[in-house]
Amino acid sequence: MSGDLAIRLRGVVKRYGPITAVDGLDLDVPEGTCVGLLGPNGAGKSTTMRLLTAQAIADEGELEVLGFRLPEESKAARAQCGVVPQLDNLDTTLTVEQNLLVFTYLYRIGRKERRQAIERALTMANLVDRRKDRADKLSGGMRRRLLIARALVHRPRLVLLDEPTVGLDPQVRQELWALIDALRAEGTTILMSTHYIEEAQRLADTVLIMSHGSAVAAGPPAQLVADHAGREAVEVYGPPPRLAEAEAAARAAGLLTRRTGTSVSVLGIEAADGRAPEGERRPANLEDVFVLLTGEEID
Ligand code: ATP
Repeated sequence: MSGDLAIRLRGVVKRYGPITAVDGLDLDVPEGTCVGLLGPNGAGKSTTMRLLTAQAIADEGELEVLGFRLPEESKAARAQCGVVPQLDNLDTTLTVEQNLLVFTYLYRIGRKERRQAIERALTMANLVDRRKDRADKLSGGMRRRLLIARALVHRPRLVLLDEPTVGLDPQVRQELWALIDALRAEGTTILMSTHYIEEAQRLADTVLIMSHGSAVAAGPPAQLVADHAGREAVEVYGPPPRLAEAEAAARAAGLLTRRTGTSVSVLGIEAADGRAPEGERRPANLEDVFVLLTGEEID
């Protein structure tokens, strides 16, 4: 085991023919923390997740999960991991409880502990009242909670969540955030991929911003904001010529800017000595950092 790292990747490369999906990635996930992999579509998040479960094999680099080297010792690592896939692969012919029971067998939970393991997972995912329902009768949010519950039956030391709230509406997303927060509070180590900035900001102790297969920045969200976008931003609204003017003035004053659909954000204005354009003031945020570093707009 390298110190207290649950995951350690060094120089990991994964190619699919001419495409390099993961391109020299370094990643540290300290035990007991929640790390968010944040990146636009195609950044390599899902491929990274698949490498960690040995569903894909790296072409280059070193991978360690819970002290086990991948791919050689992937079985031992998998036994202590809970994996929540992006795609719902529940058995829809089975009830909630039966879906969990199948996983207690897969993870070789002893007969005497099975009942308690299932109750615990049902309680965490707030599905106690739904235990007898068939999986195909559940709402999208409940199915996703069941997918998470299923990954928890064997009390994994590490949980891998691939885009846990993708495609869900905002209230349902909040419920899932509460569930992930509860896991964090229990001390479970979590690696979560997401393309929702708010999700990374709310849940992750450390965020790693990925673009084109590698890390462009990593750190606690507040630190990333302070380092890359400063403290305060001003949002300038108006017709395109007004925006272009504000942009040019800000750049001439040495300030960073970014465009949103209808406005220009001028960043780090606390250092502008009054030379920032007029506009609505707001705190700098992780979205500013994301756009500055990846050049991409995301949700
Ligand atoms: P998304 O959120 O869309 O899943 P992502 O950040 O998870 O994006 P990946 O799915 O890891 O990104 O994809 C990274 C790149 O690798 C993309 O260009 C993708 O088309 C390519 N890719 C991923 N899996 C395969 C595969 N099995 N065969 C060929 N190309 C692949």
